[in-house]
Amino acid sequence: MSFPEPLQQFIGNRLDRELNWKSRCHPLYGYLPRYSSTPLFIKREDELNANAVGTKYRKYLSLIPALEHSGNERIILIGSAHSNNVVGLAQLLRSRGIDVSALIKAPGNKQLVGNHLLLTMLLPHDRMHYVSHPDWPRVEEIAEQLVARLKQQGISAMVIPEGGYSEAVLPGILTLAADLQRNGKELGVEFQDIWTDSCTGISAIGLLLGMRLLGITKPRVHITHIAGNPDEFQQRYVQFERWLEQLTQQPLPGARPQVRFIQPATAASYGSVNQTILRESWAIARETGLLMDPVYSVKHFYTVKREMERQAPDGPQLILYNGGTLGMCGFQSRLASREPMV
Ligand SMILES: *Cc1c(COP(=O)(O)O)cnc(C)c1O
Repeated sequence: MSFPEPLQQFIGNRLDRELNWKSRCHPLYGYLPRYSSTPLFIKREDELNANAVGTKYRKYLSLIPALEHSGNERIILIGSAHSNNVVGLAQLLRSRGIDVSALIKAPGNKQLVGNHLLLTMLLPHDRMHYVSHPDWPRVEEIAEQLVARLKQQGISAMVIPEGGYSEAVLPGILTLAADLQRNGKELGVEFQDIWTDSCTGISAIGLLLGMRLLGITKPRVHITHIAGNPDEFQQRYVQFERWLEQLTQQPLPGARPQVRFIQPATAASYGSVNQTILRESWAIARETGLLMDPVYSVKHFYTVKREMERQAPDGPQLILYNGGTLGMCGFQSRLASREPMV
């Protein structure tokens, strides 16, 4: 199926043909407060792919073909030991026979758990390069040194920045706006608000720019800042806006949706998980039937809940579940500690 114009014209031939860009949307039962005028829906970005987190996966729709066409023999990934991006991309690249090296921020936790375990299973020792905390600010320089070393050995390599921050992800991240429009039409619902979460901001930027390109100014978009802040977000937005204008060769429509940024309601620093988050992970599972990753999705849903309790929303609401169950695996023992075995 093709995308609505003008999206089709700009991204249609830039996406991998075999990767799926549609996720379903269904009513959400339980957990969030119920108001008669506000039907609640959840968008299942987690179902886009079982092995890679939903938001990341949209980036790969165009990143993977770009990397395949680049002809590089080695792709160098950058991220923390628990990065959803590194473990997601490593799988997709390795399964297509592409060689991968990872520059990993040395983890504080010496136990091999979660994404760090999965990544270690995927890549042999000589493809894992640990970078110490003091050296981490210069990781991109270290990556370029690795590229130069490989070049001397006759191996062409390129670097994917942390979180996939690059022009090549742009066509992929624009698909979300089109998919949301499709969901709304199929359900016969006009969403008043969308609630999403962000880290580098790339996925949310894709949503906002996709809406602009399609000329959609509603729904309002609420963004939970799991990491980053509005200033960084704005800088990146401007960069992607430029890239999009290069892609379309014309100025973007000025009309845009309203945006609001929210801080997490608890455990505000990125990556932190406290007793509230562990408790809410259980509550969400019991009340909605959804197993969610604590670092992003539970924090996001809990924040949305608090916001809706503070001010009752009006009209149909759509909450994005951008993460996935795989993101729980680093937290098994902490989640289990809440329920003593009898
Ligand atoms: C990476 C990630 C996000 C945020 O994506 P960005 O594009 O970096 O803002 C949100 N939720 C989950 C589960 C993620 O892994």
